[in-house]
Amino acid sequence: MSDAKRFLDPLSLFPGELSEFMESLNQPAWRGKQIFSWLHRGAKSFDEMTDLPKNLRERLNIDFSVEAPFEVERLQSRDGTQKILWELADGERVESALMQYETGTSLCVSTQAGCRQGCSFCASCASGLARNLTAGEILGQVLRCRTQINRLVIMGMGEPLDNFENTTRFLRLVSHPEGKKLSLRNISISTCGLVPEIDRLSLLGMPVTLSVSLHAPDDETRRKIMPIAKKYPIDALIASCKHYFQNTRRRISYEYVMLKGINDTDIHARKLNRLLAGQTGHINLIPYNPVYPRPYQPSDPDRIRIFARQLSCCDVTVRRTLGSDINAACGQLAAKRNL
Ligand code: SAH
Repeated sequence: MSDAKRFLDPLSLFPGELSEFMESLNQPAWRGKQIFSWLHRGAKSFDEMTDLPKNLRERLNIDFSVEAPFEVERLQSRDGTQKILWELADGERVESALMQYETGTSLCVSTQAGCRQGCSFCASCASGLARNLTAGEILGQVLRCRTQINRLVIMGMGEPLDNFENTTRFLRLVSHPEGKKLSLRNISISTCGLVPEIDRLSLLGMPVTLSVSLHAPDDETRRKIMPIAKKYPIDALIASCKHYFQNTRRRISYEYVMLKGINDTDIHARKLNRLLAGQTGHINLIPYNPVYPRPYQPSDPDRIRIFARQLSCCDVTVRRTLGSDINAACGQLAAKRNL
């Protein structure tokens, strides 16, 4: 890869890498730190970096751009949730959601344009995977959301562990002491269950909360709704989750979307209790957000309450649905990609 290509995406780089780049332009290495600091304070152009020499800014402007992601649209839900549509440098589009809670603001970011996992209830995979986002494109969603955030959830479009290198680079960038300094403890990463990548993440020992989209207590039900279950059996998934907890001491959050008549019966609750007995985890029941033209119905609220009461294996919460009037709720982020 030529140097020019390597440095095309300055938002993806660490201070040391930017310094190396500055040295390649016969500039002092500390300019790299200066640029990192500007970028992480939200600068969208080199012209804003007023403590860089003018001729350097002009030179950088010719070869590189730090403008993307561009905000194309921001929708506001009745409940205060905002959905932000971003355009990337090549025209691909992704979305983020900003959610207000009593305890602070969370941002949900996308890691891929589209998704190739094919979960049958989710809108994000409707037209497959266009491409992975770079670490800088994921970070740009945080730096440009124009809001001070307390928590980050990597649960937008895409499967973060299918874009492992860029997602973990992003985690190191967003928590960098010279940048946003977001604590890894305030970050959750959601996966449909890529077992080898969960093991890889667990070896990194980052104290990030792992949310696992379980959605069924047995292989048979899971395979009907999630193709990934055909690749990795549920026992292997649970064994990896156990490992993850042992390495990071972070409790796993098991996500369970409530689909009427599919995974919400008494039998499923009993099986879930057996599956998760002895695990250090937490179950998060998610009311299903309808996605046209998927064949599912949401479970009745009473059914969700009863199901929650039947679960004795770990703590249970029912996720509040935010942003559904603007299609910003779980599984609804799709950036109008041929839907
Ligand atoms: N690929 C990751 C993250 C993206 S989706 C994953 O699979 O975990 C974030 C969460 O929303 C996942 O738990 C996902 O299964 C859930 N979800 C997807 N579609 C949904 C829908 N229509 N209603 C409610 N939750 C949904």
